[in-house]
Amino acid sequence: MNFGGKVLALCGGVGGAKLALGLTEILDPGQLRVVVNTGDDFTHFGLPICPDLDTVMYTLGGVSNRQQGWGREGESWNCFDTLKDLGAETWFQLGDRDLAVHLQRRALLDAGYSLSEATATLYQGFDVRHDVVPMTDDPVATIIESAQGDLPFQHYFVRHRCQPAITGYRFNGIEDARPSPGFQAILDDPALAGIIVCPSNPFVSVSPILSLPGVRERIGKLGVPVIAVSPIVGGAAIKGPAAKMFRELDLPVSNQGVADFYGDLLSTLVVNDSDRSEPLNVSTQVYYCRTLMHSLADKVALAEACLSILKP
Ligand code: GDP
Repeated sequence: MNFGGKVLALCGGVGGAKLALGLTEILDPGQLRVVVNTGDDFTHFGLPICPDLDTVMYTLGGVSNRQQGWGREGESWNCFDTLKDLGAETWFQLGDRDLAVHLQRRALLDAGYSLSEATATLYQGFDVRHDVVPMTDDPVATIIESAQGDLPFQHYFVRHRCQPAITGYRFNGIEDARPSPGFQAILDDPALAGIIVCPSNPFVSVSPILSLPGVRERIGKLGVPVIAVSPIVGGAAIKGPAAKMFRELDLPVSNQGVADFYGDLLSTLVVNDSDRSEPLNVSTQVYYCRTLMHSLADKVALAEACLSILKP
């Protein structure tokens, strides 16, 4: 596409990956950088697991299990079944092919690669030509504060299936974390023409990225359009705990809630057509279109709509 300038997309896992795929269908590799949340990352069986980076990698690499919403298509479970036989912890499912990625990431990190370098190497292995970088190379861990106490994010999300009521959340290590070199470079790039906040969970997928020291301020000063696609449609989330989190944090489960959450960061909020009748009291522009991304055509159409808003 003849888009004048570069685009930065801020992205979590499933919802973010869908729009990222649409963007990669339109933009050349040099025109797009996707920055992915790493607050969900954790170590399991000694292996570094990066759920959002891997979801985006499998999606852009064309190997994701779309029905399941996580992991790979055509997965086998020999290792996991053996772990079960051995009485190991099995609340976090790890397929054989998926495990290979975590093993290779472990090897690369142990060999001294940064997370950014390890990510680039892994993405190359999946023939992903577009540029996807972690938000930081430093350790950041999302902690869910709940009625059952503090829960590391994967324990809340997978082990407890998002059941505990949340009272708050925090990102351990965020004060000392720096944006990754690729993230910093795009923020400093004079060719940056606009930012797209993917329809990811605002609290636990996008907020860690925006909470890195200096990032929100830097984006505010760039003077480029910042648009967000709302992950809330018809007062509900398409998937995952976003709506439940809005409710439990006493925030409106609506596009208004999303707009309020991002506040003056945004120039445009992109809202699903079916929510036109929701009264919105916002200072940003509101753009209505179909934001439900079931097919590849849906993803490309939404990406096109986002780029048309950004285009000067
Ligand atoms: P996670 O880290 O895997 O949970 O993924 P994300 O944070 O990137 O995505 C979760 C969010 O994506 C949820 O709040 C969903 O409502 C939203 N989402 C998923 N699919 C769609 C879609 O097709 N359209 C829109 N607008 N939002 C979506």
